[in-house]
Amino acid sequence: MLVGVPKEIKNQESRVGLTPASVKELVLRGHQVLVQRNAGVAIGLADSMYEGSGATIVDTAQEIFKRAEMIVKVKEPQPEECAMLRENQILYTYLHLAPDPEQTRALVQSGAVCVAYETITGANGGLPLLAPMSEVAGRMAIQAGAAHLEKSKGGMGLLLGGVPGVAPGHVVIIGAGVVGTNALQMAVGMGARVTILDKNVDRLRQLDLIFGNRVQTMFSNAHTIEEAVLDADLVIGGVLVPGAAAPKLVSHDLISRMKAGAVVVDVAIDQGGCFETSRATTHEQPTFLVGQVVHYCVANMPGAVARTSTFALNNATIGHALALADKGWSKAMKANPHLKNGLNVCQGKVTYEAVAHGLGYPY
Ligand code: NAD
Repeated sequence: MLVGVPKEIKNQESRVGLTPASVKELVLRGHQVLVQRNAGVAIGLADSMYEGSGATIVDTAQEIFKRAEMIVKVKEPQPEECAMLRENQILYTYLHLAPDPEQTRALVQSGAVCVAYETITGANGGLPLLAPMSEVAGRMAIQAGAAHLEKSKGGMGLLLGGVPGVAPGHVVIIGAGVVGTNALQMAVGMGARVTILDKNVDRLRQLDLIFGNRVQTMFSNAHTIEEAVLDADLVIGGVLVPGAAAPKLVSHDLISRMKAGAVVVDVAIDQGGCFETSRATTHEQPTFLVGQVVHYCVANMPGAVARTSTFALNNATIGHALALADKGWSKAMKANPHLKNGLNVCQGKVTYEAVAHGLGYPY
């Protein structure tokens, strides 16, 4: 199959759909890969590395969209990319269609076969092509939180790990899923005092077995959240209720009673956020103050570490990319119902139930 990798054009996006190592996997199986010039240069993946893996470098996205049978990307196609998609061409990328009627209409009109990373399921449950970005965001949340506790960034001037003779900071993590667990690992590693809350007691049991008395687990309810948040120096919001907006677990009133110079990192902001006071921010202007509490609410945290994120994403996406290239989309999906769950739009029809119902398409 002829596979194409255009340079990402969404604002501030430096990730790339395939790494040179992934290109090599495809080439070794007899496929051809076109990569747009400078597609990975911003994260240290030079054109010469792609050529060394067997790719052909081409100058324009137009040429890739015109020739390739499968387009591999990271972000949802922008309007000018949607306009270049062709009937029966495979598009393999993050789509996030539910809140995006315009993109959905454009993909339906294109007649392309659009496979969304975020709805592909895993044999052991979960969403394995979404998990790497939650791992990145969870780990980054502590890094970002620790930096913003510094005086120059608006924080109270606290070192999370403390020093001998001085107590460490208290990190409270709400939600013990992928984001929460990765944040927990980093916070423990930095020597902070850590409390983690979830409604899922089995999840808390697992963490208790792994981390023992280095972490305090708490069942999540309004009472425990209030108690923990009022004592916190840094609060991480990492809850998810699948298919729904994030529940507002921390009220404006509770924020106003937190310590002055405390920091909240609302990772769940892409689902509306779990702090009542949150609003989405960008890497250029990541924080704002509510009273004396610093809010960090960047909606695309993994974009800041685009190199790590690209490699982590490729580890999760390459298996299905190979299957799609080897077998074609129809046979690959017959062989693997988890991959089929990724099919969101196919040859002019919306094929993912939640998107069809949400946006008024027949299903
Ligand atoms: P996950 O499903 O692995 O974990 C969510 C956890 O929240 C679950 O353990 C669930 O039991 C828990 N939860 C639900 N309701 C709760 C409540 N009332 N109190 C406490 N816990 C509760 O999800 P995840 O992969 O960790 O993702 C979490 C959020 O982070 C999602 O909204 C995801 O989209 C977002 N995210 C954001 C970024 C970013 O850049 N901002 C990046 C990656 C992921």
